[in-house]
Amino acid sequence: MGFSKRLHCLRWNSRKTGLQEAGVAVVKRKGATTRPESIGRVLLAWYARSKRDLPWRASSPDPYAVWVSEIMLQQTQVERVREFFVRFMERFPTVHDLAAAREPTVLKYWEGLGYYRRARQLHAAAKQIVHEHGGEFPRTVEGLRSLPGIGRYTAGAIGSIAFDLATPIVEANSRRVIARLVGHAAPLDGPGGDEPIWEIAAGLVPPRHPGRFNQALMDLGAMICTPKLPLCSRCPLASACVAHQTNRVAAIPAQAKRRPVKQVQETAVVLRHGESVLVERRGPGEWWEGLWDFPRGSGTAAKRGRRLGLVTYSVTHHRIECAVREQIMTRRTTPTKAQRWVKVTSLDALAMTAPGRRIARLVARSGD
Ligand code: SF4
Repeated sequence: MGFSKRLHCLRWNSRKTGLQEAGVAVVKRKGATTRPESIGRVLLAWYARSKRDLPWRASSPDPYAVWVSEIMLQQTQVERVREFFVRFMERFPTVHDLAAAREPTVLKYWEGLGYYRRARQLHAAAKQIVHEHGGEFPRTVEGLRSLPGIGRYTAGAIGSIAFDLATPIVEANSRRVIARLVGHAAPLDGPGGDEPIWEIAAGLVPPRHPGRFNQALMDLGAMICTPKLPLCSRCPLASACVAHQTNRVAAIPAQAKRRPVKQVQETAVVLRHGESVLVERRGPGEWWEGLWDFPRGSGTAAKRGRRLGLVTYSVTHHRIECAVREQIMTRRTTPTKAQRWVKVTSLDALAMTAPGRRIARLVARSGD
């Protein structure tokens, strides 16, 4: 008998999954029960047939590669991570190589991925692994979580994928799949967050092949159970899925109200002396801490000089329009501790903020 016929009733093990506490709606029909083990079996079989081919997936996963890829994948699309991952691993093939590198070099290899705090924490954790753990990753979720930048999700990913720990991981894709599977209609980004989903995920993850199971949930969310127009007719979990069975797929997961976008206007001032320009490093607590950019001007100083163009970018809920002006200097000003005069042709070698890099291109073009 096929999976869809055997699973007439969806009745989760509420003690194991925490489903009751989460107040999640459950579809019940006559007959058998849809147990987490059945979900696991079906999902693992689907994964064996359909998994994505990704450069960090290996038959015996290396915790270092899993870790680097998972940190890169936070806030960044898989397709974009592919090329960065390969380049990063060529330059820092082991945790020892990463620990021995200088921070500007690490940031340079991170440039373009954004959210540079991730790179700094990756670097700090690599040093800790080498100096305090003899170069070996801790093999428990608690041990992994004691490292900088490794939270619940990343510890679960490394633990389950590299060390076969039966621990859940919940990220955007698996969160959506689980919410729909059990019909969890409350917003996951509102109060209470996605804690109920973590509890359900903990009850689903099987003792055998937990890493594959977690990756299968993520792949299903990325390829089949997509945010818009999911392919339920091709989904291996369709017969067990509460959202699908009750026609609520489009409504789950619900979205909390978004913060309104704030418009910000600023001016980047490119001070130029001959072939050199003044750049400054973003300080602690600023967006893009540790990366180079052009100074921002205010008042009349920001209105002087030739306009090179406009760079627009978004950070969190801010939408920023940055006018770029070039001021030709007859002599170099004395740079502050955070500033430096650099040749326009050397800007490529600096780790720069995303808008800084775009301004640098305007500067390079203006000299053509
Ligand atoms: S049946 Fe549809 S909504 Fe349910 S898990 Fe599959 S793709 Fe997602």
